[in-house]
Amino acid sequence: MVSPGDDFPFLVESARRFIALLANRPAFDAKSGERGSALVQHIEHTTSGLESQIDGVQAKFEAATSPLEKSVALKHLRLLTGYAHFMRRALPWLEDAKNPPLELGALYFIDHLSEAMLKEVADVVPTSATEYSTEQQPFAPLFPKLGLGPAPGALRPIILNFPALEAGSFPLLPLFAHEIGHTVVTKDRLTTKALERAQLNPEFNKLVESSKKTLEIAEGLTEERASLIMDERLSYWTIELLCDQLAVQHLGASYLLAFSVYLVPLTWNAPGPRHPPTTFRISHLLRWVEGTPWEDLLTNRMPASYAWLKEVAAAPRQKPAAPISILLDALDVAQPDFAATVSESLGKNVYSAHDYLAESRHLDDQLRYEVLPVQHPSKKTPFDPRAILVSGWLTLHEEAAKADPAGETPSTLCRTLAATDSHPFFTKAIELSRVLGIWEKTG
Ligand SMILES: [Zn+2]
Repeated sequence: MVSPGDDFPFLVESARRFIALLANRPAFDAKSGERGSALVQHIEHTTSGLESQIDGVQAKFEAATSPLEKSVALKHLRLLTGYAHFMRRALPWLEDAKNPPLELGALYFIDHLSEAMLKEVADVVPTSATEYSTEQQPFAPLFPKLGLGPAPGALRPIILNFPALEAGSFPLLPLFAHEIGHTVVTKDRLTTKALERAQLNPEFNKLVESSKKTLEIAEGLTEERASLIMDERLSYWTIELLCDQLAVQHLGASYLLAFSVYLVPLTWNAPGPRHPPTTFRISHLLRWVEGTPWEDLLTNRMPASYAWLKEVAAAPRQKPAAPISILLDALDVAQPDFAATVSESLGKNVYSAHDYLAESRHLDDQLRYEVLPVQHPSKKTPFDPRAILVSGWLTLHEEAAKADPAGETPSTLCRTLAATDSHPFFTKAIELSRVLGIWEKTG
């Protein structure tokens, strides 16, 4: 029979092998500040903590005098092996940091987003996956468990997962702003700030309480349990709505269009555990756009699609009197508070339709002559990548409408996304405007 003592050397060997695999991963010598360098620092920090913990557990096991002490050391070692195993997730990320799976213009756009929204240079690593999502400092939760302090180096590694099939989709670039938004929300504690602001309104509190009470009665739960369930939902949904606000306020109309063309085919008015219904999210995006020149722009340049977006936003709720629906009522009341919290966080990086319109005439002129729109013709300043996104969307949309015997319809949004031959042109424009901006700063 194998006693715990016999298992121990075997487990130590296995744990050390995992660490060696991580240490001997394909050569990656990102210099400080290069993409992936902060991620490497976090990995090395974690593996050094793992190694010293394994040494410590081994010493404890050897000094143990009772079976209980031995079995405690054994369990600890298994835990450490689990951590080492978990860290294998980093290998494809490092590969993607070395050979980014996006065009240069898209990478530059992501860097623009982290500088403008997060207001710091972060180590953002876009990585091919099946869906959009973010992992902020993925190994940081292990630091305290391994008795480690913060990792050396100031940069924050952020893994940006995106659907591999959409790597070249220029019209979907705005979705990265929502993902960067997740880090902004965490870093600036926006959920707490937004909810505190909303709670100053008695109407909001009344609706939240009513959603809890309705759930308690409907499901026969204790008051505490019902409250816990609704608070969790409220917190998750607030995060998503804040990320949407960050994206639409920083990018303007292009986020509304990218969000709708990507999400509406996937989900409609069904609430998810972590995401409010898509139709509801679109209604909040529209509230940012309505009554501003963004609305005039969309009404003029894509009338059928914009009218359809308004219909989508007005879609009836699933189960109108259910607790979830009452919570959505509360979030409707809180919308101006969420928007104000986000505007405060973005400061001068809120992108108004006026900012866009100041550039768009020149940008659109160049597009009309199929000139790569990089810089303002007289001022010679590079175009804002956000302006290239909006004009790109409008131009591609108009081209798709012209090519369709049915003219402009809501399906034109999908045709815009499908017109992949034209996408690299606009991504290239973002790349060159960024390069020009860097020249100007250094020249
Ligand atoms: Zn999200």
